[in-house]
Amino acid sequence: MNRRLRINLGKRAAVASGLLGVLCVLAEFCFLFPDLLVTKDALPFYKANLDLFRGIQWTAILATLLLGAASLFLLRSRLHGLLGMALACVALAMRFTDSVETGPATVSAGLDYFVLELLVLGLVFIPLERMFALRRQRIFRRGWQTDLKHFFVSHAGVQLLSVAAMVPAQALFAWAVSFEFQQAVAAQPLWLQFIQILLAVDLVVYWVHRAFHQVPWLWSFHAIHHSSREMDWLAGSRMHPVDVLVTRAAGFLPVFILGFSQAALVAYVAFVSFHAVFIHANVRWRFPYLRWLIATPEYHHWHHTSDEEGLDKNFAGFLPLWDLAFGTAHQPAHWPKNYGTVKFQPPEDYLGQLAYPFKQRKDRTPYG
Ligand SMILES: [Zn+2]
Ligand SMILES: [Zn+2]
Repeated sequence: MNRRLRINLGKRAAVASGLLGVLCVLAEFCFLFPDLLVTKDALPFYKANLDLFRGIQWTAILATLLLGAASLFLLRSRLHGLLGMALACVALAMRFTDSVETGPATVSAGLDYFVLELLVLGLVFIPLERMFALRRQRIFRRGWQTDLKHFFVSHAGVQLLSVAAMVPAQALFAWAVSFEFQQAVAAQPLWLQFIQILLAVDLVVYWVHRAFHQVPWLWSFHAIHHSSREMDWLAGSRMHPVDVLVTRAAGFLPVFILGFSQAALVAYVAFVSFHAVFIHANVRWRFPYLRWLIATPEYHHWHHTSDEEGLDKNFAGFLPLWDLAFGTAHQPAHWPKNYGTVKFQPPEDYLGQLAYPFKQRKDRTPYG
């Protein structure tokens, strides 16, 4: 094997082993402290399928060990491979400790959600972005660590964020809820409810998103999401928690008033979480028959561009219909050239991004 290829493969194996090792340890924490760390609603599901999740965990530990060993074999520097293997051993040692019953907690962390989502999305999107890349860029491109921190906070804090996002609607719009009306809505066919949720949530979120672009103080929060200069599946997680909270609270409003059935909402949330990642991905697919029906990577990449022609366009998360209706749609035959904010750039580090909206100068206007 030539030396370059060997070093390349060795480095990849070392990084994969290290990352997978960290996920294994975090997953073991979930097995150990389920009441504290695991999303409450998902706990019965995990318990009913414990063997399956134990199996996934065994496979991940084994893969970590094998990748670590491969990197030891391929690389002269042994540090990273050894680190991955050490993490796998920690996970193994934790495996033989009994799970700790801490009793019911009112709010638990969604560490399980973070670990599973990162594993699944990584396994789906990393190969896809290699095979169908729109632009040649590294997996560990600039800012990936910051984005991973955003990903961690929004996933591990999923329950806290969801509960907080429900408060405004419950506090301000309880008067608008009619039980009979909600029952009639929930009795409709699932597919119809699914389309209605898409239409209603997307309409509300369209205007909130537009406000985030046009009100200078709000823009300083949303500029974080637009600060990525390279797009990929992880870049979509770069979002100020205030942005996440306000957007979710707004999206919850029509759901709270219209009262759809649980099954329709679960289908919607599952679809949305995947779709939100997908539209940021570095893939060159264009979907000729869908591109004006539903937001595709091409559509949302134009929202992230810093090219003059695409500024303040494509606010809709899912349905280009709303951009067409309100005159903000833009999807020419070519792809955008550059991504990011114009004139100013929020800092690259996570804490700097959190503090950014509270530090900015008073005279700052959108994009400048
Ligand atoms: Zn935006
Ligand atoms: Zn985006």
